[in-house]
Amino acid sequence: MKKIVIIGGGPAGLTAAYELLKHGDVEVTLLEADNTLGGISRTVRHGGNRMDIGGHRFFSKDERIMKWWSDLMPLQGKPAFDDRVLGHEKPFVKGGGDPETEDNVMLIRDRVSRIYYKKAFFDYPVTMNMNTIKNMGLLTTARAGFSYLSSCAHKLPETNLENFYINRFGKVLYSMFFEGYTEKLWGRHPREISAEWGAQRVKGLSIVAILKDMVSKVLGRKNNKNTETSLIEQFWYPKYGPGQLWEMVGSHVTDMGGRILFGKEVTELVTEGGRVTAVKCGDEVFEADEVISSMPVKDLVNGMTAPDDIRRIANGLPYRDFVTVGLLVDKLRLKNLTNKRTLGNIVPDCWIYVQDKGVKLGRIQIFNNWSPYMVKDPAGSVWIGLEYFCAEGDSFWNMSEEECVSFAVKELRKMGVIGRNAVIDSHREKVKKAYPAYFDTYEEFDKVKKYLDGFENLWCVGRNGQHRYNNMDHSMMTAIETANAIAAGRTDKSAVWNVNTEKEYHEQRKAD
Ligand SMILES: Cc1cc2nc3c(=O)[nH]c(=O)nc-3n(C[C@H](O)[C@H](O)[C@H](O)COP(=O)(O)OP(=O)(O)OC[C@H]3O[C@@H](n4cnc5c(N)ncnc54)[C@H](O)[C@@H]3O)c2cc1C
Repeated sequence: MKKIVIIGGGPAGLTAAYELLKHGDVEVTLLEADNTLGGISRTVRHGGNRMDIGGHRFFSKDERIMKWWSDLMPLQGKPAFDDRVLGHEKPFVKGGGDPETEDNVMLIRDRVSRIYYKKAFFDYPVTMNMNTIKNMGLLTTARAGFSYLSSCAHKLPETNLENFYINRFGKVLYSMFFEGYTEKLWGRHPREISAEWGAQRVKGLSIVAILKDMVSKVLGRKNNKNTETSLIEQFWYPKYGPGQLWEMVGSHVTDMGGRILFGKEVTELVTEGGRVTAVKCGDEVFEADEVISSMPVKDLVNGMTAPDDIRRIANGLPYRDFVTVGLLVDKLRLKNLTNKRTLGNIVPDCWIYVQDKGVKLGRIQIFNNWSPYMVKDPAGSVWIGLEYFCAEGDSFWNMSEEECVSFAVKELRKMGVIGRNAVIDSHREKVKKAYPAYFDTYEEFDKVKKYLDGFENLWCVGRNGQHRYNNMDHSMMTAIETANAIAAGRTDKSAVWNVNTEKEYHEQRKAD
C-alpha cells in the first residue's frame, strides 16, 4: 500500500485524506501541528459559545463542492430556531434535517453585511441609493457623482490598486470606502499594492455591476450562479460553525482507517533523487511515498535543502496575520432599522465592515446571525467577533489577552456600538498567516513553484500551501485534483495549480 503523508488538518488536508481513502489501497497519515481540526476554518469553543475565525460562508460556484458538502451534512429541511420563533419563510429542502432536533445539519442563511461608517450603515459594496444619499448628504453625494463621472472620462493608468479602484468608483467613494479599509487589511497603502490584486478580487464589481444587479432584482431574474460573489445573498452554514463539518470529515477519515496525529509540526522534508522520502517532526520520522503539503510555502521551503535563491523568495513571501476578539455582550446599541426581523431584534448583519479610519477594528462578526446555535443564549445576549488585521510580533499581536480585550472594548464604545458594562465574557484568538499576500517576492513565486514541482511526489495544496488567496472550495479542489492524480498514478501537477486561476472562477471575498 502506498504510504501517504498529509501535512495539515485544515480543509485541504482533510479533503485529501478523505478522497484518497475513498479511492482505497492507501495508508494515510495526517500530521497536524495544532490540537484541533479545521485550520483557519475551525470552530472555537468558549464558555458555551462558539466562534468562527472570520465567518466562513459555505458557497462555491463549483457544483461538485456543493454536493460534497451537502452529501456529508444534509441541508436544513425545516426552519432554524430563529426562523421558527420569528415565523420567517425559508427555503425548504425535501427530506432535509431539522436543526432543532438534529446536529448534523447545514443551515441556509441570509447574507446581510453592510459598511459602518461615521455611525451610519451603508450597503456593501457601496451602492448609490437613497440610503447612501441620505447618509452622505447631498453635497458629498454630488461630489461622489462628479468624481465618478470624471473617472469615467479620464482613466488612470492601472499601475496600482488605488488607480484601479478610482477608475471604477471615482476618487470620493474610493477614499471613503476602499482606501482606509485596504490599508487596515494589508498594512499597506493601496498605492503600494499591485492592480493585479484588484483585478482578481473585484472582477466585474463596479458601479455598473451593482446597477445590473439592482435591475435583475427588480426583474426577478437573479440567481446565485451568475451573480458576482460579493452580491450573493444566501449561503450555507453548519449548525455549529465551519469546524463542525471539518471535525466530522476527520471522524470519517479515522473510520476509514486513516491516522490523524495532533501536535505534530512538520519541520523537515527528507529528499533524495528528486523525491521526498520522509517527513520529520523534530526527531520523529514518517516515511512517505507521496507527500501532500498544506503548510505555508515559506515554512515548507525552509524545511528543505533548497537553493539560496528559492529560500530568498520563499522567505520574502508576505502574509497578514489576524486577531479576533470574541465578546459576549448584553445588547448592541445599533438599532435594527431594517425591515428584517431577528432574534432579540439585533441588526441583521452577519458581519459589518468598519470603515472609520480612527479605529483599528476591521470587521465585526455577529455570530447570532450566522447560526443562533453558536450562542448559548441567542435571545438574551449577542456574541460578536471583533477582527483586527495585524502582523505576527507587532505591538497588537504581542498584547496580553486582557490588554487586547480592553483595547477592543474601548474602540467599540468609542464607535457607540456598546454601552458601559455591556461585556459579559470575552475570548481572544490569534491566527498566523491568515492572508497570503501578493506583493514583495510574490512576483517571483513561479521559481518556487517550479522548484517544488521538481519533486515528483510532493503536492502543494490549499491556501498557504499554494500561497494563493484560496477559499475553502478552492482549497478542497486542489486536494481533490491531487487525490485523483495520485490514484491515477499521474505526476503532473498542473491541474492542482490551475484551481482558482480561471478568470470566471475568481471570487470577490468579503475581506477586501
Ligand atoms: C478571515 C477569513 C475569512 C474567510 N472566510 C471564508 C469564507 O467565507 N468562505 C470560504 O470558503 N473560505 C473562507 N476563508 C478561507 C478559508 O479559511 C481557507 O480557504 C481554508 O481554511 C484553507 O484551508 P487549508 O487547509 O488550505 O489551510 P488552513 O485552514 O490554514 O489549514 C492548514 C492546517 O495546517 C496546519 N499546519 C501548518 N503548518 C504545519 C506544519 N508545519 N506541520 C503540521 N501542520 C501544519 C495548521 O495548523 C492548520 O490546521 C476565510 C479566511 C479568512 C482568514
